[in-house]
Amino acid sequence: MKYVTSYQCTLCNQTFPKDFEEMTCPSCGEKGILDVLYDYKAMKETVTKEYFKTCKEPSILRYAPMMSIELPKYETLQVGNTPLYKSKRLAEQLGLTSLYIKDEGVNPTASLKDRASLVACLKAIEKGQDTICCSSTGNAASSLAGNAAKLGLQSVIFVPERAPLGKLTQLVMYGSNVIKVAGDYKATFKASKKAIDDYQLYNRNAAINPHLVEGKKTVAIEISEQLDFRPIDYVFVSVGDGCTIAGVYKGFYDLFQIGIIDKIPKIIGVQSDGCDPFYQAYINNEPLKEQEENTIADSIAVGIPRNPVKGMNAVKKSNGFYMTVSDQEILDAIETLGALEGIFSEPAGATATAGIIKLVEENALPKDATIAVIVTGNGLKDLNSVASKVEEKTLLFNPNIDSDIQENPTIQGFIAQLKHRNKRQK
Ligand SMILES: *Cc1c(COP(=O)(O)O)cnc(C)c1O
Ligand SMILES: [Zn+2]
Repeated sequence: MKYVTSYQCTLCNQTFPKDFEEMTCPSCGEKGILDVLYDYKAMKETVTKEYFKTCKEPSILRYAPMMSIELPKYETLQVGNTPLYKSKRLAEQLGLTSLYIKDEGVNPTASLKDRASLVACLKAIEKGQDTICCSSTGNAASSLAGNAAKLGLQSVIFVPERAPLGKLTQLVMYGSNVIKVAGDYKATFKASKKAIDDYQLYNRNAAINPHLVEGKKTVAIEISEQLDFRPIDYVFVSVGDGCTIAGVYKGFYDLFQIGIIDKIPKIIGVQSDGCDPFYQAYINNEPLKEQEENTIADSIAVGIPRNPVKGMNAVKKSNGFYMTVSDQEILDAIETLGALEGIFSEPAGATATAGIIKLVEENALPKDATIAVIVTGNGLKDLNSVASKVEEKTLLFNPNIDSDIQENPTIQGFIAQLKHRNKRQK
């Protein structure tokens, strides 16, 4: 908070003072999303490589001097400090030399959204509010519910009917007040907006609330710190509303501004071809158009992205690009991540990895580049979308018919195949 200088509208560029109470630009209305601006000269004095070396706080609160929050004096959930793995088996399969995988599924409520939700809760408390509201396809909601529960805040959450059972169950178990909207995410967003306006609730809708991108940016700072601030060439991230990718850009941008890194990686936004408004706008060089939400990757099934400017800027200003993958490629990437890396991802979480696999197949990615991919959410949240794989890949053995496992022809064939596969891998 100390280094925040002002807020700037992403549409009309007007700036507002640091004690500005509105969340969006009064001239541009709801679409006038604000960006938080900092005094980098002053930040640079405190936030040095030495600061990171000596800071003992493991959670994202270690980055508080780079954020728009006050350091809380109470205990919060331990958000962040998630592992960045150097991929071995997947990297070998793809022929890449430096592939790093950030597993955000091990956050307290099992997705990257915890980074934003913790910030939302802290801001609500700073403002003296006791009830937070959001609309979400699932993870923003479950993370808000969990972080709010820890801090003794009430949460009111609007979810679309299609929200996967795992995420819905999390909400209920975290004691949230859940309103299921008979409709899609667009309808859900509208309903939550009305509740926020009518009842003066604190708004955790990620695009509208400028502090949430400031929470999400910690994933980029953390990746960079985990790589000792060495240069990274590409970062792959899945995109729905555009807030996560905006945060990824902002994190690297901040580190660049304070002289801790020498370059900002190219940021690659990956969408499902069943819902790709950012990709379409990018390749056609036109404003985002509303789309149907036809993908199994529910966390990025966003027909009208709420953060179009920041989401597009992240790619353009970093010299990255947008791309799409099919739902089948997403499902395959879930399996690949699981089998080769021991990371179980939900569909939206594996979308960015599917993007890397696709580019390698098209020979469109330099093999020796340093690449980071963010796995944004845990697979246990959405078992339904991989249920067909489970069915297809499990062997049924009936002990009443073939009591001796050695004699069973199905099992024999299965084990023989396994041995053959292991030999190949050596
Ligand atoms: C929210 C979410 C995303 C995308 O973030 P946006 O800010 O909506 O672009 C990606 N993956 C998962 C698992 C998410 O929950
Ligand atoms: Zn404006």
